[in-house]
Amino acid sequence: MAVYKHIDSALIHGGIYGDETTGAVNTPIYQTSTYMQEGLGKHKGYEYSRTGNPTRAALEALIAELEGGRAGFAFASGMAAISAVIGLFKSGDTLIISSNVYGGTFRILDKVFGHFGIRCIIADTADLNSLESKITKDVKAILVECPANPLLTITDIAAVARLAKQHGIYSIVDNTFMTPYLQRPIELGADIVIHSATKYLGGHSDLIAGLVVVNSQELAEQIHFIQNATGGILQPFDSFLLIRSIKTLGIRMERHVENASTVANFLNSNESIKKIYYPGLPDCQGYEINQRQAKNGGAMLSFELTEGHDIRVFFSALRLIALAESLGGVESLVCHPASMTHASIPKEIRDRVGITDGLIRLSVGIENISDILDDLNQAIAKSTETN
Ligand SMILES: *Cc1c(COP(=O)(O)O)cnc(C)c1O
Repeated sequence: MAVYKHIDSALIHGGIYGDETTGAVNTPIYQTSTYMQEGLGKHKGYEYSRTGNPTRAALEALIAELEGGRAGFAFASGMAAISAVIGLFKSGDTLIISSNVYGGTFRILDKVFGHFGIRCIIADTADLNSLESKITKDVKAILVECPANPLLTITDIAAVARLAKQHGIYSIVDNTFMTPYLQRPIELGADIVIHSATKYLGGHSDLIAGLVVVNSQELAEQIHFIQNATGGILQPFDSFLLIRSIKTLGIRMERHVENASTVANFLNSNESIKKIYYPGLPDCQGYEINQRQAKNGGAMLSFELTEGHDIRVFFSALRLIALAESLGGVESLVCHPASMTHASIPKEIRDRVGITDGLIRLSVGIENISDILDDLNQAIAKSTETN
């Protein structure tokens, strides 16, 4: 019998809570590679830590519970998680991916798995008719990032999952930007959820980790096989850190989102801002769908300054908000997608999908909101001074 009903409590008590042997409230860091066996074939469920480790198992059970899936798997990075999922496919198979997925997701398909005969097609997954027209007999999965990076494009996850089911193929959702606290794709019908846990789940910019959650026993066995065979597992200490971080995900996300919607409203009414992308603003693409499938608009937003502003000056004028890759940490981070996170996407594709050279992406942290607004204000003001 569950002793809690709400995700805030599951964040703290979910998965495998505490340690039965000692009563410790936290799962110990089982810093071991191997396990003593009583006799041939007689062991306590663990033989070798690439195959399974109790600290990692506690994290894997936790993320499976939070996403409402059948099983979870922890990897050394988001890319290791994505590469394990792509390992489900074989030469001749095609994957459809959202048009502005994380640059590394496009790169691994294009430059690594392409060599093994796995193909990828880029589609606007927000446009269901165009998406369906791209499903040929070779297409085996649709990989959606929602909101997609960096234009925060919203895809109707339930509709894509239905479409995938009709065609007998998998729907895969990269849920990094929302986390299970705000959005649970498996409950919307998706088969597989991927996380770069480096971002909000880790939440403190001190950890690289990836997670996969699947909705069936068959997929669980396949992903476990690939995880053990390829070996890109998360280490016990990092698994512990991630469990520790997830306990505060709820309160962190509440504050991230509160700050982000204040920043979005501030930018939206600022005459120095040409365009803003934030799924929590009623005028932005996908607002209604996002309201339906997620708790709110999340804490990532992108914008462009009007003509006459020098974005180089803007970036160097920021004092509190750090110019850095990554997102989802307690500190506010800003980045320039065209030269940083999305540099591995060819310029003609970037321009076609709207990742312009003037686009600025902001991961709104949990600092005091006045300090964040002050920093943005003074940097926007400075960015005009040189003109
Ligand atoms: C960062 C990121 C990844 C890659 O994860 P790593 O942990 O850096 O390997 C994948 N998808 C999204 C949406 C990301 O933001």
